[in-house]
Amino acid sequence: MPLLSVKNLRAYYRTEAYGISRTVRAVDDVSFELQKNEIYGIAGESSCGKTTLIKVISGSIKPPLRIEGGTMTYTFDGRDVDIASVAPEVMRREIRWKEISYVMQGSMSILNPVRRVRRIFRHVVDTHQGIDDKRKFEALCREHLKKLGLPPDILQAYPHQLSGGMKQRIAIALATIFRPSLIIADEPTTALDVVVQRGVLQLLKDIQAESSNTVLLVTHDMAVHANVADRVAIMYAGTIVEEGPTEVIFGAPQHPYTQHLIASLPVIGDKGTRSALPGAPPNLASPPSGCRFHPRCPMAKEICRRVVPSMIQLDTLHRAACHLVGEREEA
Ligand code: SF4
Repeated sequence: MPLLSVKNLRAYYRTEAYGISRTVRAVDDVSFELQKNEIYGIAGESSCGKTTLIKVISGSIKPPLRIEGGTMTYTFDGRDVDIASVAPEVMRREIRWKEISYVMQGSMSILNPVRRVRRIFRHVVDTHQGIDDKRKFEALCREHLKKLGLPPDILQAYPHQLSGGMKQRIAIALATIFRPSLIIADEPTTALDVVVQRGVLQLLKDIQAESSNTVLLVTHDMAVHANVADRVAIMYAGTIVEEGPTEVIFGAPQHPYTQHLIASLPVIGDKGTRSALPGAPPNLASPPSGCRFHPRCPMAKEICRRVVPSMIQLDTLHRAACHLVGEREEA
């Protein structure tokens, strides 16, 4: 039984200005499942729809973003709820933060610099649980911070007194204080130097191993996925084009876009040049017909311009959406 099952999800930004309507198809027909106790990575270049996808999954849907179709079934306490249609009150009281928490992109910058860390924790705890007893609240925070290897005295500090890495750890500590079943982390290591990045990733891994929960990790950094994720999905122009176990995605990628991403990674000792893809990611307000990757794909054929490739199941956990993959499977 998956923890979260996303089926044919479509989420668009619809805007209207000076009489001109515009629809940006940021997430277009996306399906995947998250299992309990795994780290699932979503990779892809900027503006491919990754952040919109996790905004929708976390229930942070505000106009002009709208869900246009599909379902997101989240299973907890023996019941299924569709995040797309759950009442906002149920989302706030039962799911957000306690079941699904979200470490937003640049979340270390959202800590209010003039509030002590203790007050920030107080706000989160009051909003989602409410613990009147001061000593209980203090014990909860201290025990949680200690478990994450953070000094409990940090509660006394102001965010501006902390390093970027420490602020990111605080953001992760806030997101995990109620031991949620699903932690969504959007680019949690962006803007951190590599040494600090390693510490933050290790923290996420430790939390996941300790609590056996599920982490949905979104980053454009393939090296992070290689180090942390159990399975990886590759997104391009609002859709998932390949998904599989991390070792398969890195060892035997099947989609030309994934192959390019892997081939462009630096290899120690290899001084050869890495070629860039021609062109730029498509404008999602008017995506290309057929396969959205066709204007940049070195292997594109006539059919690619006309027909959207179906997702082909290559193995139990490996699937890719490409006409060439389909042909190979049929041969
Ligand atoms: Fe390239 Fe065609 Fe495959 Fe798209 S369907 S990735 S254009 S070969």
